[in-house]
Amino acid sequence: MSENLYIVIPCYNEQEVLPITAPMFLDKLNSLIRQGLCGEASKVVFVNDGSKDNTWSIIQSLAHSNDKFAGITLSRNRGHQNALLAGLMWAKDRCDVTISIDCDGQDDINAMDEMMKNYHDGCHIVYGVRSKRDTDTFFKRFTAESFYKFMSFMGVETVYNHADYRLMSKEALEALAQFEEVNLFLRGMVPMVGYKSTAVYYERNERIAGESHYPFSKMMNLALNGITSLSVKPLRYITMLGFVMGGVSFVVMLYALWAKFFGETVSGWTSMVAVMCLISGVQLICLGIIGEYIGKIYSETKARPRFIIRETTEDKKEE
Ligand code: UDP
Ligand code: MG
Repeated sequence: MSENLYIVIPCYNEQEVLPITAPMFLDKLNSLIRQGLCGEASKVVFVNDGSKDNTWSIIQSLAHSNDKFAGITLSRNRGHQNALLAGLMWAKDRCDVTISIDCDGQDDINAMDEMMKNYHDGCHIVYGVRSKRDTDTFFKRFTAESFYKFMSFMGVETVYNHADYRLMSKEALEALAQFEEVNLFLRGMVPMVGYKSTAVYYERNERIAGESHYPFSKMMNLALNGITSLSVKPLRYITMLGFVMGGVSFVVMLYALWAKFFGETVSGWTSMVAVMCLISGVQLICLGIIGEYIGKIYSETKARPRFIIRETTEDKKEE
């Protein structure tokens, strides 16, 4: 089979992990080539997301030592989603199919065989789905699972327990390139692309070395970003909340009138304060959510580039 595969791997401050996982990716690629699942010109492509450590020099020396390795580096740190998109967009002009994966060895590289088989069976997108989360702490597991449930409640279609380990064909990537938004949430955007897709199940391991860049706060950020970029349901919930609050206020008003004529009015101070606090709280939340969307509109209208590639290890070869 002559279709070339690029394995795209975003890396941010990964000097401890890269020397361990890079040979693993290379072995996997070679085995895929031997099995005839991808072509000889397939590559492992690292995207250096403005790392502050030696990640880029490690990538450069890998590319120097073996031409199955390639690297691109961004002009600064742009975050996982932008780095991944940069790698995929760079790859789509050079290969037939891509698989994106994190560089920390958490995702099982052996799932790639099945992904490639599905690709040859005509799938354009193959989602890597975690079959269980035994190696995660209870807290990580709980927050991650709530994340998917909350996302779907808020109207964002995602594949349950799928992160960014997925195969995408050149055709699907060309389609993804037409999504011009600046606020990226690839997990929500890829299902919108459509095309024939399927899932492959694998077990997720612990990070081989280094630390997670996704603590709880960043995950909350990703969720908020995903929701406000892809769905307007929260605005609808606000409207619904407005109706409910309106109804409640009406009942309270009736009660107040009743109390004025038939009861004692002075003793209403506590309930007045309680209602005022509640309503101002709800109003602030609603204003905040609306503000999120206005912020999004603001950054989308500026249409700034989502990433800038400063340099690649292929520059000289491609000239
Ligand atoms: N990453 C990146 N830019 C960032 C943060 C992370 O390219 O600003 C990369 C990181 O090197 C790794 C992947 O994104 O390959 C996932 O990050 P991490 O493993 O820290 O997240 P977790 O698996 O804990 O959710
Ligand atoms: Mg990880």
